[in-house]
Amino acid sequence: MEKPNIILISCGHFERNITGKIIEDITREFHYPAYLKQCNIDISRFYNPGRRQYDANGILKVVMDAAPREAVKTMGLLRVDLYIPILTYIFGQAALNGSSGIASLYRLKNERYGLQPDNALLIERFSKVIIHELGHAFGLIHCAYPVCIMRSSTYVEDLDQKEKHFCYKCEAELNR
Ligand SMILES: [Zn+2]
Ligand SMILES: [Zn+2]
Repeated sequence: MEKPNIILISCGHFERNITGKIIEDITREFHYPAYLKQCNIDISRFYNPGRRQYDANGILKVVMDAAPREAVKTMGLLRVDLYIPILTYIFGQAALNGSSGIASLYRLKNERYGLQPDNALLIERFSKVIIHELGHAFGLIHCAYPVCIMRSSTYVEDLDQKEKHFCYKCEAELNR
């Protein structure tokens, strides 16, 4: 039997310094080894020309289908703008207690808000979104504790205010 892993599948090119840091953060927070797999999912069919965005629910479904057997959870990493019908955009998506999640760095870049690029901050934000979505996949709901990673975030400023960790309550829930 292969040992359970958290598997990241990258849809699009991600620099090594980004994925390396994310793997380090995930391993620390979830105590599962994590590794990266190249994705061969064609996401072009999820493009919505009217919104000029990608349908997150559709992509999440194919990531679930593509989840390797040895994966305890699978996370799709994307670079495109994601939406769900009721929201203008989303940073990521995962089903509660589901096998998989997705996250995109599209909306996390400083440049998108007229600010100077900051690669370290970008990685930090992306890591937070990924840990948050994995938290949902491991059964955690949103948390009201102001700096907990499971607090919901609408804007990048919300992400920046959170710590890259679970609060003691979420941590205890996660370890159950
Ligand atoms: Zn959430
Ligand atoms: Zn919490």
